[in-house]
Amino acid sequence: MNNKVAIITGAGSGIGRASALRLAQAGAKVALFDLHKENIDAVQQEIEEMGGDAIAVEADVSNPDEMERSVRKVIWKWDRLDAVFANAGINGSIAPIEDLDPDEWDTTLATNLRSTFLAVKYAIPPMKQHGGSIVITSSINGNRTFTGFGMSAYSSSKAGQMAFGKMAALELAEYGIRVNIICPGAIETNIGENTFPEKDKLKKVQIPVEFPEGSQPLEHGAGKPEQVADLVHFLLSDQASHITGTELFIDGAESLL
Ligand code: NAD
Repeated sequence: MNNKVAIITGAGSGIGRASALRLAQAGAKVALFDLHKENIDAVQQEIEEMGGDAIAVEADVSNPDEMERSVRKVIWKWDRLDAVFANAGINGSIAPIEDLDPDEWDTTLATNLRSTFLAVKYAIPPMKQHGGSIVITSSINGNRTFTGFGMSAYSSSKAGQMAFGKMAALELAEYGIRVNIICPGAIETNIGENTFPEKDKLKKVQIPVEFPEGSQPLEHGAGKPEQVADLVHFLLSDQASHITGTELFIDGAESLL
């Protein structure tokens, strides 16, 4: 990834943070997009302390103006774009369908799916000059519902990301832009803290707050963000030059249970 320029959305925490550090270790210049400035500032500092190059861009990636402005900042700074990791996401409101507020449905779809569309849309003009690679974080929930009831909006957004990613792979192949979709199982991140502020409500919809031991056949408990980051690095690099339009599961075989 030496001197390649990469955008990572949701870079302040979890999978996005680990991937930012991994890409920077591999020599990429990384643009860290996130809602929470203090978190991306801290990631930027870690990267700079390793001798890498990063910028922290505070943005709501579901907002078209903010996404367009943020991509423009990256082009001003480094004058190219080689890689995009469309990863920002929330679990959103967890509720049975009959209780789910339509505005909360929209928030989940906008944060997870609309942001993915926007990241790809605004990356195309700079990327189509020389080709590039895009990775989208969907979930095993995109084609099965493992975590219990109440996640209809989340699962719909994750299924939408899979369909969008495949369509984009076809549409962008002529420019040498690859698009792949990763589907993590349970990974140890802050996503529960960020989106489940009232854990009592979960009992009603039977969402496990902790991942039970043995929930992943390969490893007891959840996977680590760094394990996902290795896959992201591979897919964004030229080592994956013939891989596009593919869904890759990274779940310790959780999806086979
Ligand atoms: P996380 O909460 O640790 O990180 C998500 C980051 O996205 C946070 O820094 C948050 O501030 C940022 N973000 C959220 N909304 C945003 C917005 N509108 N604009 C900009 N930034 C925004 O969670 P994570 O687990 O690392 O999640 C990353 C992705 O992985 C998500 O798409 C999630 O759905 C997916 N995923 C996670 C798991 C898991 O078990 N952790 C499993 C499958 C898929």
